[in-house]
Amino acid sequence: MKPRKTLIAANWKMHKNVHDAVVYVEELQKEAASFVDREILIAPAFTALPAVRIVMGRADFKLGAQNCHWEEQGAYTGEISCGMLKDAGCDYVIVGHSERRHIFGETDDMIRKKVNAAFKHRMTPVLCIGEVLEEREAGKTFQVLQNQLKEALAGLTPALAEQLVIAYEPVWAIGTGKTATPDQAQEAHAYIREKLSDIFDKEVANAVRILYGGSVKPDNVDALMAQPDIDGLLVGGASLEVASFKRIVHYQVPGGKN
Ligand code: PEP
Repeated sequence: MKPRKTLIAANWKMHKNVHDAVVYVEELQKEAASFVDREILIAPAFTALPAVRIVMGRADFKLGAQNCHWEEQGAYTGEISCGMLKDAGCDYVIVGHSERRHIFGETDDMIRKKVNAAFKHRMTPVLCIGEVLEEREAGKTFQVLQNQLKEALAGLTPALAEQLVIAYEPVWAIGTGKTATPDQAQEAHAYIREKLSDIFDKEVANAVRILYGGSVKPDNVDALMAQPDIDGLLVGGASLEVASFKRIVHYQVPGGKN
């Protein structure tokens, strides 16, 4: 089995102007070790993408967008297409973040179209899935994860599915300071991998990288990354300061992750 390369992603949401984004990336590239076993993904606001691309010089650093539209172009005021994001230098695009689903009403159908549009433009979609607190408390977590996966991935070929990144983000843990325990996260990740095997096959399930997101901090990163099915992290709040994100990308797992 090919080892899955760790991916540590910073989702800056609606934070940082162009200048602050550039200064941060320059500083992180200088201060963080160079990695061969992990990739660092920075997802700034759309406005900062081209400037960050210019200063992003390291092979282990990747650029991502936080959202996209599925159409190529047209009368969609305020939207941005995958072709435009690719043109701005993006390698990845986050799709179906819970803030997009719950604040902006994105549906599974829209999310499936975004996954396909990202692949069409040779970007890797980071597909976010996760249950809200009431669903967890009602014992429906696995059902929610299964539905979100099936809907978003319908019709995808195994060759593309293998390249996918999935972020398991329990909605009750995002921006709340409440992290899933390493055992809760591992249980959900193992379930997602099992479902990928059912929907596609074992090869796809073993290749797909599954990130955990939800109040990841310097003090919980090592325990989360020690779990066998956690292949990386999607970090919101704790990615806004270089020092804390630097500690997160330098997570330490006894015996090594890969
Ligand atoms: C996120 O926005 O994807 C996220 C996980 O945020 P936070 O780390 O702040 O919980």
